[in-house]
Amino acid sequence: MQAVAEERLLWYRTSEVAYLIPAAIQGHAWLRCAFTTRRTDSVARGFNLSYDRGPHHVVSRHREALLKALGLEGSALHTVSQVHGNRVCVVDSAALQNGLAGVEADALVTTQPNAALGILAADCLPIVLYALHTPLVALVHAGRMGTSHLVTRAAIGVIKQQFGVHPTQLHALLGPAIGACCYDLDDRAVRPFQKRFPDWPRFIKPSERHRDTARPWTMSLTAANEGQLLAAGVPPAHIETVSPCTQCHHQHFYSHRAEGSKAGRGMAVIGIRRYGKPPYLDDS
Ligand SMILES: [Zn+2]
Repeated sequence: MQAVAEERLLWYRTSEVAYLIPAAIQGHAWLRCAFTTRRTDSVARGFNLSYDRGPHHVVSRHREALLKALGLEGSALHTVSQVHGNRVCVVDSAALQNGLAGVEADALVTTQPNAALGILAADCLPIVLYALHTPLVALVHAGRMGTSHLVTRAAIGVIKQQFGVHPTQLHALLGPAIGACCYDLDDRAVRPFQKRFPDWPRFIKPSERHRDTARPWTMSLTAANEGQLLAAGVPPAHIETVSPCTQCHHQHFYSHRAEGSKAGRGMAVIGIRRYGKPPYLDDS
């Protein structure tokens, strides 16, 4: 298996799967986490993970191959209908039994072993949250709207209230997303932040590119969500931002801004596996 180290992300690609492992989790064998990229070695049409964007049997094959690569085969992959809001879905034993069909949410949390969580994205920011002492994992889908609805803060609140895990015990990984280098916005998109976020100039700035005068602003999804993490009490040393820009690097990542409505979707996936080590460590 090919493993190319590039800063804090390890790139893996075979004929069946294409994904990145954050170097920060390498010491925690129980924690299985990846952000997918778009091209495997052999599938020219891409490693799309969304059933809405490709043939069902192909997407199923991609999802199975991804779980297997992370040593999560046998785990059901739990996803929700993402609606750019701030609802948090707790994947407990009842959810494992009943499934999540029809559930609308933009964050998922679990302490269940053998449950894998998935969030789809093409430019939106996927955030991984995990706690070490109480094995707990969570995923947040933080695009512009979810960020304005404080979805990251909502997820941290549910983790504290329902699982007793204090924010100081949480670690956060911010994954690939459209960067401030590309994320130009118009006045209408910026207005909710100007109204409700006193610190909005920290993550929304006048665009210096003037590529599009209808969009005079640029936003950093990572800076905005780092702010939510810090305000909630996650220690700065526990926040790792590994966010290559999906539009600048759309040869590696699906990007709605770069490709429009036809763009496929990548996935952030996370799960708990109490035994063994990740298969990708065997021959890297
Ligand atoms: Zn960019």
